Amino acid sequence: MKVVQGIVASSGISHGKAVVYVPPDLNFTPRSITHVEEEKRRLFNAVKKSIAELGDLKEKVLTNMGKEFAHIFRSQQTVLEDDTIINEIIEKITLDKWCAETAVKEVFTAYFTMFEELDDGDYNKARMADLQDVYKRLLRNLLGKEDVNLSDLAEHAIIVAEELFPSDTAMMDLEQICGMITERGGITSHVAILAKNLGIPAAVAVECATERIITDDEIYLDATDPEEAHVYINPDGTIRQKFEELRAQYEKRQTLLAQECHLEPVTLDGRRITVSVNIGSVEEIKNAIRLGGKSVGLFRSEFLFMKKKNLPDEKTQFQAYKTVAEAFRDGFVILRTLDIGGDKPVASISIPRETNPFLGYRAIRISLDQPHLFRQQLRAALRASAFGSLKMMFPMISGPNEVKQILRIIEEIKGELDGERVDYDKKMELGIMVEIPSAIFMIDALLKHIDFISIGTNDLTQYLLAADRMNEHIRDYYQPYHPAVFRAIARIVDAAHARNKWVGVCGELGGMPLAVPALIGLGVDELSMSAQTVPEIVHVIRHTSYQSARRLADRILAMDEESDIKTLLQRTQNDTKE
Ligand code: PEP
Ligand code: MG
Repeated sequence: MKVVQGIVASSGISHGKAVVYVPPDLNFTPRSITHVEEEKRRLFNAVKKSIAELGDLKEKVLTNMGKEFAHIFRSQQTVLEDDTIINEIIEKITLDKWCAETAVKEVFTAYFTMFEELDDGDYNKARMADLQDVYKRLLRNLLGKEDVNLSDLAEHAIIVAEELFPSDTAMMDLEQICGMITERGGITSHVAILAKNLGIPAAVAVECATERIITDDEIYLDATDPEEAHVYINPDGTIRQKFEELRAQYEKRQTLLAQECHLEPVTLDGRRITVSVNIGSVEEIKNAIRLGGKSVGLFRSEFLFMKKKNLPDEKTQFQAYKTVAEAFRDGFVILRTLDIGGDKPVASISIPRETNPFLGYRAIRISLDQPHLFRQQLRAALRASAFGSLKMMFPMISGPNEVKQILRIIEEIKGELDGERVDYDKKMELGIMVEIPSAIFMIDALLKHIDFISIGTNDLTQYLLAADRMNEHIRDYYQPYHPAVFRAIARIVDAAHARNKWVGVCGELGGMPLAVPALIGLGVDELSMSAQTVPEIVHVIRHTSYQSARRLADRILAMDEESDIKTLLQRTQNDTKE
């Protein structure tokens, strides 16, 4: 039995069979050939195998994920059934005497170049993405490598990977997954957030996980201790028994907390804190409500875009936003406009290759650069605002100039909707995310234009400390409890309250039981978190006194070291438990 340690990215406890996801290595050494017929046979076999694989995928995905995904595989099959591309490859083998791998690479590369030169329309982008998938499949089959198919998993699968991106998870059969283990990534990486939203236990920074674990290993994942995750590989009976005892204890506590989760989130001395949930899809609504979510403090709209091969049009977006607005009619929903880029690429939007993606073409920068995209989203959101209390907020704001541009576009769209006699909430509240340090220094100027602020501590921490939130090698530098983070929050809250505007925290810090008393003491009005953490946070709020939280915040603001802050927070937590 082996046991390895990692960091808890999504808490919970589960046991299942490992599925090790290692994207196959498609490198090869080009060869020139003498036996043309043999090479053609290799090609035909690979084409046949690829078509058959796509056929299987189409059938499975049709049952699991619906027609739209199945269609992707059908259109990829037609690329290989069509003689044009195959004949060009055969020509390269016959006339130029290239090995099949080189011939395939040359022909597909020519098509990629051609598509890159065409205009940027959605159709071309989708075709290009299909061609890339077909190319990789064909090459893999030529090289005799096996595919790891994540859209057709057996029950209770625990995915083990070097790194996972939201685009990988878009093709996973999430229903079957009961755990995720990755070598890379931090607690605020988007895959960790997704796992949390779905209630799937996850451990990140598990060293050499893909070497130590092999597919079909029995994995016992204990992510119940916030300090450390334990991954047991093929454990013996004693460990299994201990694990089952721990699971029973954990589940008992979760059940107890769940019974309290619908109680009012009010401190011992009567200060009400708004508790809301972070979601990324319509499918998460049910679970969020079950766990006590009354409002949505962050609807990550980009996940809607990541799930589709093509851009969702205004109608599709409108339907999704309306569904969420209606589901939370008694509270509110804050829709965050597209926040792609960084670790969240979207197949249908081309992003240039970047050296520093988190400092690059991201979020509001893309929306302002591609107004057709932005306008479509704003129209859909404004229309949906007629069906509930929908607010909108904008990610990655660095200063008032961006806000002024956004407000101008919104006014234009309101004019359009008035002209079309389409109903919308004329007083829809607008807010910004504060996650770029410059916004802290420009806070007074920003507050003149907006109704509320939501602090994105995941990015704010990485930008304040210049420590990539995805990079486990510098995880000691990514300090969620760093004094600079608390001082930044204090400054934002004071400025906003001086103008009678409210402040929320929607980064992961807002759902960390240890941090919550400090955030309450700093005056934060709203905390938004993964549904899974709502019961625990409601419990913390109900056992905290605002007056003592204020004293706690004052002490934290006078501290210079993260370690001191953590010790104080831990001591406070223990005192509250007693
Ligand atoms: C944040 O940065 O804290 C945030 C909530 O946004 P995201 O995690 O989606 O970047
Ligand atoms: Mg962010």
